[in-house]
Amino acid sequence: MFKRKPSFRSSGKRSSGLSVVALLLILGAAGAGAWLLMRDLSGPVMSLAPETARVGLAQPLEVAVSDKSGVQSVTVSVKRGSQSMVVKQETYAVPEQSRRIVFDLKDTRLPEGAFELEVRAVDASYAGFGRGNSATFTKPMVLDSKPPRIAVKTVPPAIHRGGAAIIVYTLSEDVQKTGVQVGDLFFPGYKQENGGYACLFAFPITMRTDGYHPEIMAQDMAGNVTSSRLLVRALNKNYRADTLNIPESFLNYKANELAQLCPEKDTPLEQYLCSNNKVRAANDAKLLELAADPGNVTPRFVWEGPFRRLPRSAVKANFGDHRTYVDGHRTKIDEQTHMGLDLASVAQAPIPASAAGRVIWADYLGIHGHMVLIDHGLGLMTQYSHLTDYKVNVGDVVKAGDIVGTTGVSGLAGGDHLHFGVLVGGVPVQPLEWLDSSWVKNNITSRLKTNVK
Ligand SMILES: [Zn+2]
Repeated sequence: MFKRKPSFRSSGKRSSGLSVVALLLILGAAGAGAWLLMRDLSGPVMSLAPETARVGLAQPLEVAVSDKSGVQSVTVSVKRGSQSMVVKQETYAVPEQSRRIVFDLKDTRLPEGAFELEVRAVDASYAGFGRGNSATFTKPMVLDSKPPRIAVKTVPPAIHRGGAAIIVYTLSEDVQKTGVQVGDLFFPGYKQENGGYACLFAFPITMRTDGYHPEIMAQDMAGNVTSSRLLVRALNKNYRADTLNIPESFLNYKANELAQLCPEKDTPLEQYLCSNNKVRAANDAKLLELAADPGNVTPRFVWEGPFRRLPRSAVKANFGDHRTYVDGHRTKIDEQTHMGLDLASVAQAPIPASAAGRVIWADYLGIHGHMVLIDHGLGLMTQYSHLTDYKVNVGDVVKAGDIVGTTGVSGLAGGDHLHFGVLVGGVPVQPLEWLDSSWVKNNITSRLKTNVK
């Protein structure tokens, strides 16, 4: 029977006994398959990724080979002058229509400079008295195994837990990726008009000083990577503890919104706890995702002058407050860290943009309610949460002081206020640093002017 012939995929459950019609169909398909194998007069089609001609010894290269009769074998060689060496050879018992071969040049002992990559593939057709059709793909390439050199021109003497810092550096060659790695977080560096690179990065409040080891890295066009520890002092900063009451009256007041945030939960309290944990985590991930989209990041700062705060407002909560949530009986029900500055003015107060930038979000986002996010360049963003209304749209370019919306109670807010956040690469950082014009001058803007020659 044909039930395990590889070129035919049978799907579904096996039924008891094949009908004559089905058998004839299979025989017909097999006959057509054999006919196609004889009729296939062209060899496999190949492509190489990445497309760059410069390649390092450790750079993974991938050849995609496809053929309608199936791929029988693939041979990858490197050639230099009259010398040739096989890097990878694969022969397949099962001729699938497409194959991917991944390899690198670590074992080739190729010297620096020009060489030719050759890929020869044979299909599984019956052409050429059963030998199959062959095709050869060649590409002139250059082996470059020298990693880029990084010269750090300015680095701040210290960075505080929950804070931000900028470095300016130069690279010896063009790169495909560069920036600062902090644990799982990557903060890209951006080439500036003077030829140097600037990278703004955070010390997430969730990390400890003894676990904070930012690394600067650069990967050149050939895949070679340089990475080294940044010599910056990580200083601890203590934040306040706060208790937040979640009485039944609050849960009733927010009942409709809580039910929308967590429709899978039954009671307002369960919906609140789900919003404060599951929805909060999803919202945090969304902020990281928005910041990781290159379309949302201007590669240079688009602001100058001091950052503004909501006028005539009182501080209701600080960045870094460790909040213990208690119910009406003073029983602890939850804990979280507050990631912004809560500012209260009159109800539905107009909110000025803190600095010049571009609106990349003006929409509802879970616990933040109606929220506006402004990109200021280099991954720096300001966040305005719990709004009643928007005065801007995504894509709008705003000046410092332009009204972006009005304060409110949307999301997880009990009273009318503005939750003002500052994000670096999507990570919330201490807004008070950015609202302090001498901190901004000493730590950010003056360092950006560092001579890179
Ligand atoms: Zn807040």
